[in-house]
Amino acid sequence: MLTSDILHRDFKPEPYWWEAYRPVAGELVEVPREARVAIVGGGYAGLSTALELAKQGIDAVVLEANELGFGASTRNGGAVSGGVNVGKSFSGKSVDIDRDRAARILSDAGDAFALIDRLINEERINCFWETPGRFVGAWTDKHFQAQQRRLVLLNEAAQSGAFMVPRERQRDEIASDYYRGGMVVERSGKLHPALYYRGLLAACRRRGVAVCAKAAAGRITRAGNGWRVETGRGTVIAGDVVIATNGYTGDLTPALKRRVVPIASHIIATEELPTDLARSLIPRGRTLSDTRRVLCYYRMSPDGKRMIFGGRARFTQVDPTVSAPILHRYMTARFPQLHGVRVTYAWTGNTAFTLDALPHMGQSEGLHYCLGCNGSGVAMMTYLGYQTARKIARAANYACSFDAPDFPDHRLYSGNTWFLPAVGGWYRLRDRIDRLLA
Ligand SMILES: Cc1cc2nc3c(=O)[nH]c(=O)nc-3n(C[C@H](O)[C@H](O)[C@H](O)COP(=O)(O)OP(=O)(O)OC[C@H]3O[C@@H](n4cnc5c(N)ncnc54)[C@H](O)[C@@H]3O)c2cc1C
Repeated sequence: MLTSDILHRDFKPEPYWWEAYRPVAGELVEVPREARVAIVGGGYAGLSTALELAKQGIDAVVLEANELGFGASTRNGGAVSGGVNVGKSFSGKSVDIDRDRAARILSDAGDAFALIDRLINEERINCFWETPGRFVGAWTDKHFQAQQRRLVLLNEAAQSGAFMVPRERQRDEIASDYYRGGMVVERSGKLHPALYYRGLLAACRRRGVAVCAKAAAGRITRAGNGWRVETGRGTVIAGDVVIATNGYTGDLTPALKRRVVPIASHIIATEELPTDLARSLIPRGRTLSDTRRVLCYYRMSPDGKRMIFGGRARFTQVDPTVSAPILHRYMTARFPQLHGVRVTYAWTGNTAFTLDALPHMGQSEGLHYCLGCNGSGVAMMTYLGYQTARKIARAANYACSFDAPDFPDHRLYSGNTWFLPAVGGWYRLRDRIDRLLA
């Protein structure tokens, strides 16, 4: 199909989710002169840090460079996992971690899932939160076997309720023969990401947190025992600073910029589908992803009418009219019955990968940070913000396993991602070879 045939006449190059909540600056909240804690970045991580600090009686200001919700937090797929992707690098391979550490990490990832569930209920966030589970399709038989090996640890450490689905039963999960079976992770959910964001924002505001849009932190310097954070709209003196900029981490914090690789992810939303077709595609209403290096993730929209289909059409930001036809091709490879269906929305956003494929919180040069969602951060970045707040408030009763002193960098990586298009091409080729050899 030509690009012009793929795009619906009402096509919008922006997130479908923004129909429900569009990032806005609103009436600008004045940047306070002082705060106990200044948080840079107003996504899930920043807001969740501020919310927990407020609950602990500590005042915080959130400084967001753009509109509120500009980053990945209103652009993602809304699939919420309790650890199935933790430790998966951007090559799609799981990194080698010794079993004890892996168990601790998965246990904390399981806690991240519990936290988001609790927050949504406690703060009464109306965001179509459901827990139907996830199906992860195996691209090759080898991948199926690797899933089988990982399953035991997932169930022991994160109580994932994971089980294998052989190829013969795959159609119980997806109206497609694309995969070689796969794994169901029952302890997974889905939500409307922008409404979840709106709910967190409202919860912060209810507790009096100053959330300042259009207040990019431009410079952070020492001021006595604390910090001076300069923005175009005023300077804050704060006791502690938290960097929560994930895939949008820039020159403000060069040491952190060298430790995260911003990788773009892209999504399309189709036009409304005929009811029977829409109902048939994912019979159990789960979210889906797969084990390819260049993975795709997808689900139905909260009203069940549209396919929301995402993946790394490119590893860098591209115009949605470029990513839409690529994602459409990936979608119809899995669902040939969607040939001819048009795309109504297409958009892109940044995730942040780390060199050890693990999320991180900690301190760098005296600044706290929570960064590195590695593609899955709805629950995880909420959790890292919460844990960072508890650490600052000295309310944490154990050290979170993502709070590790070693946050690796690489002498050949300075934060410049010139190599990503080549890496993307290579991984696509490797995926094809894996299947040919399988
Ligand atoms: C297309 C896409 C699909 C995804 N799908 C899923 C999914 O299905 N499930 C899942 O779990 N995860 C998914 N993710 C990942 C998830 O969205 C992120 O992990 C999460 O939103 C990160 O939240 P955050 O608060 O850390 O960062 P963000 O929400 O990205 O916020 C960072 C903010 O920092 C701000 N900032 C940067 N520099 C400055 C500065 N100097 N001063 C002030 N502010 C600054 C930016 O403007 C930005 O708003 C997806 C991501 C993308 C892009």
